[in-house]
Amino acid sequence: MVDIIHLLPDNIANQIAAGEVIQRPASAVKELLENAVDAGASEISLFVNDAGKALVQVIDNGKGMSETDARMAFERHATSKISNIEDLFRIKTMGFRGEALASIAAVAQVELKTKRTEDETGVYIEIENSMVKKQEPVAAATGTSIAMKNLFFNVPARRNFLKSNPSELRHIIDEFIRVAMSFPEIFFSLTSNGQQVFHLEKGNLKQRIVQILGNNYNAKLVSVQERTDYLDIMGFVGKPETAKKTRGDQYLFVNNRFIKSAYLNHAVMNAFADMVPKDSFPMYVLFIDLDPGQIDINVHPTKQEIKFEDEKIVYAFVQSAVKHSLAQFSITPTLDFELDASIQHLDAVNKPITEEHRSTASSSSLFQTFTKKNQAHFVENKSELAHWKDFYEKPAATNLKDYSITPQPMEVFERPILNNEQPQPHCELMQLHNAYIVVQNDKGYLLINQQNAHERILYERFAGAVSGKAIATQQSLFPTTIELAPADTVMLAELIPDLKQLGYQLEPFGNNTFVIQGTPADMPQAGETNAIEKLLEQYKHFSNDLKYSKREKLLRSLSLQQSIKIGTALSQKEMKQLTEDLFLCSTPNATPTGKPTYMSFKKDELDRMFGR
Ligand code: ADP
Ligand code: MG
Repeated sequence: MVDIIHLLPDNIANQIAAGEVIQRPASAVKELLENAVDAGASEISLFVNDAGKALVQVIDNGKGMSETDARMAFERHATSKISNIEDLFRIKTMGFRGEALASIAAVAQVELKTKRTEDETGVYIEIENSMVKKQEPVAAATGTSIAMKNLFFNVPARRNFLKSNPSELRHIIDEFIRVAMSFPEIFFSLTSNGQQVFHLEKGNLKQRIVQILGNNYNAKLVSVQERTDYLDIMGFVGKPETAKKTRGDQYLFVNNRFIKSAYLNHAVMNAFADMVPKDSFPMYVLFIDLDPGQIDINVHPTKQEIKFEDEKIVYAFVQSAVKHSLAQFSITPTLDFELDASIQHLDAVNKPITEEHRSTASSSSLFQTFTKKNQAHFVENKSELAHWKDFYEKPAATNLKDYSITPQPMEVFERPILNNEQPQPHCELMQLHNAYIVVQNDKGYLLINQQNAHERILYERFAGAVSGKAIATQQSLFPTTIELAPADTVMLAELIPDLKQLGYQLEPFGNNTFVIQGTPADMPQAGETNAIEKLLEQYKHFSNDLKYSKREKLLRSLSLQQSIKIGTALSQKEMKQLTEDLFLCSTPNATPTGKPTYMSFKKDELDRMFGR
């Protein structure tokens, strides 16, 4: 029998271990930026080519490395940041495990150039597959430049796992922003394929936030600052009116490390409760500082979750600090509103709802009608739906017997609703609350929600356009430009081809600017920049939803954003068009997200409810 266990060669062991630290170009970006910060740099420049797949390079003016240290730095568990286990609980640097450079050297080609102030010449080292290929003295400025080339050149399986360039670049930008946000006193720049995406001058946190998140936050930031013996919190929250429909602009740092915490996010959102509409997200950039001994440092540094010794204290603290600042800036009433004593004595407030009340209420068929889930799917059976559809699809003579809504020539519907001298009771459509359209026939009536219905109609129209015949574009005589935050620029650039099919013709113009050359022919031309901005906002709202493709997200965003909103008064003609269009859809009964578009109320059921 032969023994079968053997040790893996170093470079293979390193490649495997590297997988945990370096998953994609953005992981290298994070590690290299953090190393530059740890080295005390005041200027850090990041260059990427091909979304980091071809090159990630970080140049800093930090303290540099000696010749020996430069060689050592690439060994696994080589670090200058801790010496013993106790150090873990005092850690103030971003890195400490000594794994990043070793990992990068295992899965890419690395070129390092570094020099300390006290040294005359610097050192240049080339490494590939964890092996030093070249080392020589070099003339260099104080600081370090590390270039990582052709990531995963030796691990094709991993290379194949990388996403498209726009998506990898998006990850890089996210990491870049997280580091740049927490060190506003350091200059940062990001250049992608030779084009500068960020140029962040040194400044204070407020300036950095505006540089990164955009000018619209200028003069809209409320400072948060509280100090206690246990922990400090500082940073800014956006005034409630700047809250967006997307979670994007929310940053939480613990001891300068970006973290994701649904729990603490909830604390901030709670402080904003009632000040921002539901489903919208206030901006925040908050830094919590506490004794490193109070957090679980053994959580892997590349993970963004964190464990606190006492999570509840941190929660209460974050919430009250944010509340306090909002109150100070008189955005929220300082005193809690209390129920007037006389009101509290009223029976309705005082007495619990009795079982008897509850059961009579819930057994009424009216109650049941209104509480059945997904009424449109529930009440309709296929054949009945077909009747409604048939009616709108082909107003053929056979249908006329069944339905008393006789299809009328267009002019009848154009007639103003008050001009009733020739009443056509069955074909008038009625709008309720500027939100619902009532369509009746002999058998009952349909209640159509205008916004949901229109969303469904647009969705099917747009889906048809991206996979088939494009929507016609009307060229602008005076093209307008739109300037975006750098992160949004990347996102919009990805969408250009699909947008073209949908009638929007956009061209990148450099410097986060796009020229709007044309808009859908059937849309009013004014307000196109606003429309694009709103579209991006909506798109970001969907962008956390991984189960949908980019295109699907775009279709959903666009149909939601362009749908006729609740609160819009509709003419007879518009209501008729909407109803017809709805029943020409392949799935008329729900929005793309599954909300019902209409409910049907049958006359015999109504009769029964009224005991007839
Ligand atoms: P860690 O940051 O956890 O110590 P790394 O593998 O990232 O591990 O780096 C190893 C060591 O190399 C660091 O501890 C530091 O001493 C040195 N080093 C890395 N990058 C730089 C840099 N940009 N400037 C100076 N020293 C650096
Ligand atoms: Mg490091």
